[in-house]
Amino acid sequence: MTRARGPLAALIAAALAAALFMAPISPAWIEGRYANGIYAVLADTFVPLANAAPFAVGDLLVALAGLGFIGFAIRRVRRGGRFAIVAVLLGLVTLGGALGIWFQVAWGLNYRRVPIAYRVAYDGSRVTDAAVAAFARTIVDDLNRTAPAAHREMARAGDADTTVLERDFLPVVARLGDTYRVRVSAPKTSLVLDRWFQIAGIGGMFDPFAYETVLNSAFLPFERPFALAHEWGHVAGFTAEGDANLIAALTCLRSHDPLIRYSGLFWIYGYLPGDVTARYAVSALVRADERAAQARFLRYYQPWIYSLQWRAYDVYLRANRVASGVRSYGEFTSLLVGTPRDAQGLPSTSRTDQARL
Ligand SMILES: [Zn+2]
Repeated sequence: MTRARGPLAALIAAALAAALFMAPISPAWIEGRYANGIYAVLADTFVPLANAAPFAVGDLLVALAGLGFIGFAIRRVRRGGRFAIVAVLLGLVTLGGALGIWFQVAWGLNYRRVPIAYRVAYDGSRVTDAAVAAFARTIVDDLNRTAPAAHREMARAGDADTTVLERDFLPVVARLGDTYRVRVSAPKTSLVLDRWFQIAGIGGMFDPFAYETVLNSAFLPFERPFALAHEWGHVAGFTAEGDANLIAALTCLRSHDPLIRYSGLFWIYGYLPGDVTARYAVSALVRADERAAQARFLRYYQPWIYSLQWRAYDVYLRANRVASGVRSYGEFTSLLVGTPRDAQGLPSTSRTDQARL
């Protein structure tokens, strides 16, 4: 009995994980019953719990899972027998399968939600060269205009006020289809991942195993609001990177807080095509921030790890039904140009608006 348990557990865990990953599920069920149902309840329960912990809960989970597995492997090898190594490998498959199931149920099924491009009144024919150039120009003008006030706020308060960011953020995800009040994560620093983030050039992540957001601690105060709003987009059940960027951009652009606004403008500027933005001059203050962000990036940056990391993430995104992989990060600028926004800075979702414009 003991001998058969390992292979059976591995088989069940792997099969269940694969079945969950491939199972055809209707988009209506995903939107109504999962994203705004099961996931909403889970996030509403566990995000506040993770927020209450003064440390990164994900670090603790990684330590527990790692130590637990190492303990199991040592015990199994000590017991000996011809199949000790096989048993350890089967244990690894079981753990992988269990994590796969956990990931899908906890958050991953959100990958099957309808992308934001189909939720808003986006019209690709509006994204002409002239429209992109005009948009880039307003972004640069706004960037230059907002920079002094943003710097005053940084000098006064250090970081942007996350309660203001939350207020700017919530109507965006409500407009995009979340029917419940999203609980946002307090940004944390991960002891396990932080240096990796810096070496690999990662801004942060929403950890769906711990329901918490960890941010790259080296990020500068004007980089953080957009990065945090991006992760909150994931917390709100929008998995695609371009969608999270669009949520962050909309959140920052509609803000009356100069530092939050500046953060959004700064990132959007960085994502716009370089040959277009090069036509418009940024002020000396903005240029200095660009240099500071570049220096921050290069301080720990390791080119081969960077490319390896992003290649691996590209494979992961494609496996999770994001056909354009890491390129999806930049797609939000087209969505910004091709989607009308109302007086509150929220994207229009009605097709009549689309017809009128
Ligand atoms: Zn992301």
